Amino acid sequence: MEFQVKADPELWQRIGVDVTRLSKMREILSQMYKTLFLNQEIRPEGMKYFDEIVANIHTGRIKEIVEAKEEGRVVVGAFCVYIPEEIVVALDGICIGLCGGSQATVPDAERILPRSICPLVKSAYGFRISRVCPYFQVVDFVAGETTCDSKKKTWEILNQDIETYVMEIPPMKRETERELLFKEVVRFKEELEQRSGMKLDEERLLKGVRIINRKRKALQRLNSLRQHDVLPISGKDVLLIEQIAYYDDPERFATKVEELCDELEDRIAKGIGYWEKKPLRIMISGTPMAFPNFKLHNIVENLGAIIVNEESCIGTRYFNDLVEEKNNLTDQLYAIVDRSMKVHCAIFTPNEERIERILEEYKKSKADGLIYYSLTFCQTYLIEAVKVKQACEREGIPFLMIESDYSPEDVGQLQTRVEAFLETLRG
Ligand code: SF4
Ligand code: SF4
Repeated sequence: MEFQVKADPELWQRIGVDVTRLSKMREILSQMYKTLFLNQEIRPEGMKYFDEIVANIHTGRIKEIVEAKEEGRVVVGAFCVYIPEEIVVALDGICIGLCGGSQATVPDAERILPRSICPLVKSAYGFRISRVCPYFQVVDFVAGETTCDSKKKTWEILNQDIETYVMEIPPMKRETERELLFKEVVRFKEELEQRSGMKLDEERLLKGVRIINRKRKALQRLNSLRQHDVLPISGKDVLLIEQIAYYDDPERFATKVEELCDELEDRIAKGIGYWEKKPLRIMISGTPMAFPNFKLHNIVENLGAIIVNEESCIGTRYFNDLVEEKNNLTDQLYAIVDRSMKVHCAIFTPNEERIERILEEYKKSKADGLIYYSLTFCQTYLIEAVKVKQACEREGIPFLMIESDYSPEDVGQLQTRVEAFLETLRG
């Protein structure tokens, strides 16, 4: 049957979605998905589950969430990996990543917000005010954070439309900040306890930690399979899975990723690679690529190279580190903090650990070159590019800097630049 992103106007109406507009977006998304994903040859069978997830992105998963809400479960919308989803899951809640990756809602946001802020923030805010994101319509509240200026000031405006809780994320990683973050994690726990009417104990929290650790481990395993010379999966497909990790049911998701990994391991053993000739391997480092931002992956892979790693929050920063299991509540909460302190977002200063991580991941992925990707107006990632470039020069790693937004206008120019970069790698 022909692939279509499904519609459920009755459900959409019930949750306050702009039905006419979402119906149009659904058509565009269906077409884009067919062109970008379903035209890939010898695609792993295990991708069928993720195709289904995309087909049900505005229906099946939304229905599940609405039913969960009716049972009294709390639904949290988050924008950052520092929001402890282990606590949400431990209190039987659902944590949904809300980051916007579409140009479609940027003009909506620009009617209110300044144009000169990052497209991710504008896209997400636009999704809310234009009522075209069913997830934004079903979350009980938004859990924002004080990572970058664009986000933290937008929360004040977003709060006029939907309740927005803000968690303070300190910009340094000393003992003082560890204690501050611990207090913020405890405050978040109390907020969730009050909303869910449940009390967090060590047993519940350990269960939440195990569920999310299992999801992260499955993603680690998937990423490690890209380190083989035989490449069993495209970068585009892995990016899609990394995006789905933010809104699918965590246990079902982990099972499906594990099944896919079994299939990919079998492919590797049989020498079934995605590309017949040895392709150039590219690592991406930088700002998150939220659904449906496949722009750079699409350009690189259409030019015959393959993406083998994403050092990004929709990528390794999300799953590289697990929460250590502890046997009492306080230690377990500290373990959540300690995992967060290992997530090296560019908002931190100093941030040498991120540079070390990038170099480490580059070696592991056996990449031939690194493309540093930053969304326009993202000051922290743009400035940190300077140090990443210096490190790459020191290590003899070919480096290309790309700054882009979600609009299609620069695609031609980006293609030319990526092509020239790949040519230099081919020698
Ligand atoms: S890039 Fe930084 S601010 Fe954005 S999701 Fe990741 S950790 Fe949070
Ligand atoms: S991409 Fe940069 S500016 Fe945009 S939300 Fe993330 S950290 Fe903030």
